[in-house]
Amino acid sequence: IMPEKNGPSGSDCVQVCVRCRPLNDKEKDQSCTMCVKVDEMRGTITVKGPNTGSGEPPKTFTFDTVFDTTCKQVDVYNKSARPIVDCVLEGYNGTIFAYGQTGTGKTFTMEGVRSVPELRGIIPNSFAHIFGHIAKAEGDTRFLVRVSYLEIYNEEVRDLLGKDQAARLEVKERPDVGVYVKDLSAFSVNNADDMDRIMTIGNKNRHVGATNMNLHSSRSHAIFTVTIECSEKYPDGKQHVRVGKLHLVDLAGSERQAKTGATGQRLKEATKINLSLSTLGNVISALVDGKSTHIPYRNSKLTRLLQDSLGGNSKTAMIANIGPADYNYDESISTLRYANRAKNIQNKAKINEDPKDALLRQFQKEIEELRKQLDEGSDYESGDSEEEESEEEVGEDGVVRRVKKKKKKREHKHISKEKMAQIQSKIEQDRKMLESKKDMAEEERNKVKGDLEEKEMELKKFQEEQDQLTNKLAALEKKIIVGGENLLEKAEEQERMLEESAKELEARKVKEEALRKAL
Ligand code: ADP
Ligand code: MG
Repeated sequence: IMPEKNGPSGSDCVQVCVRCRPLNDKEKDQSCTMCVKVDEMRGTITVKGPNTGSGEPPKTFTFDTVFDTTCKQVDVYNKSARPIVDCVLEGYNGTIFAYGQTGTGKTFTMEGVRSVPELRGIIPNSFAHIFGHIAKAEGDTRFLVRVSYLEIYNEEVRDLLGKDQAARLEVKERPDVGVYVKDLSAFSVNNADDMDRIMTIGNKNRHVGATNMNLHSSRSHAIFTVTIECSEKYPDGKQHVRVGKLHLVDLAGSERQAKTGATGQRLKEATKINLSLSTLGNVISALVDGKSTHIPYRNSKLTRLLQDSLGGNSKTAMIANIGPADYNYDESISTLRYANRAKNIQNKAKINEDPKDALLRQFQKEIEELRKQLDEGSDYESGDSEEEESEEEVGEDGVVRRVKKKKKKREHKHISKEKMAQIQSKIEQDRKMLESKKDMAEEERNKVKGDLEEKEMELKKFQEEQDQLTNKLAALEKKIIVGGENLLEKAEEQERMLEESAKELEARKVKEEALRKAL
């Protein structure tokens, strides 16, 4: 685990890393000059202005970690993301932001090239890490892993995993669960491949409705959220649930939009498009200036949703991305200043133990009840009068709502398995009798037939009820993952690669520490 820089009274500072991408082909063709120097050992970035000849000295910034143009994706994961994801697995909230000008590698850092193992970014690597952890957990630990994926564009929230891609979701707040997105879908996942498939679906939906994909992706924020619930027996003999929420955020491009010279309605639109990003800047400034009593979280969707990530209950890392070429000098300096300020944000993270909206315990209780019901036979609804009832229901988002339901009035005719077996044999008897007594009177025959049909209906209903219960049980059981099960599948190789490079990193760090002392 990475040594943590702790602020006063046990608070943790936001970890800030800077990554500089290599010159791209176009820049090489145009023989662009590199103006950025990265010193990974010292943790510094030095930027030389295009007209430094005229006397302006180069500027140097220091960060927790800096990544040079040749750095490997696995090293970025292990140095910046692994400590955060480890905390999430313990029950802390965690957030990883990618910040920077369009084209500097935010998406490359967060997502990377998923089809090439060495080029996978933080999000797919976190899938391998999470399920690698579950595979190593004790057998009596239970996990529930859910993912959701949303996008904020022009201050509208869209569920990238939702059925209706035209729908816009509301941001709501409740005292017991905090800020949440109403009706946001969340999917339970059983392995790293499930997560990967869901990410693909969400990415396809990012393109839906975008007239200009490049413009759209540079102006929108994407938040991929993984919720990990873990239930374990504590030394006190009781079962406890810890819940960690991981937000993986690919922010809109930080370049200034003001240059277009828009006025009136157009200007208003332009301002709105980056309202979330400018509010993020204002929130950071207010958090670190030490004088502000008001932090403007409520001014944008992004800052409302990620309020905990900045100055609150979360372990947070920011990866600021810059380009190396001198024509990006102004934007790079602006990104470095932004990142430099973010270093001073102090968070107060705590393990979330037995929160109200944990689903794992509730699922386990439901499973127990279903098993009991299946064992004892089922309640057979014979009444057909309807009445309206209000009932608590837990949505996929974990939010409990009261819903009105028309219900058939239950007359609680309980049928046990034994009783059903009796009915079954009675049916067979009746059928045989009908066949053997060819000379039976018409009236008599119809009565027996009627009885038979009635019994068959009853049996069918019972079986349907049992099937329903069995399916419900299977669906619930499938969601709960048992510690120690190997669920990595194709991600197994990835997990091994990450672990090995984490070990190498440890060894390198020891060496570097010795070198640093010698310097
Ligand atoms: P952003 O999301 O910030 O707009 P991208 O991640 O899409 O930027 O990166 C722009 C281009 O640069 C992509 O083609 C990407 O593959 C490439 N790129 C970014 N960072 C790196 C890197 N560290 N190494 C190699 N290529 C990179
Ligand atoms: Mg991008």
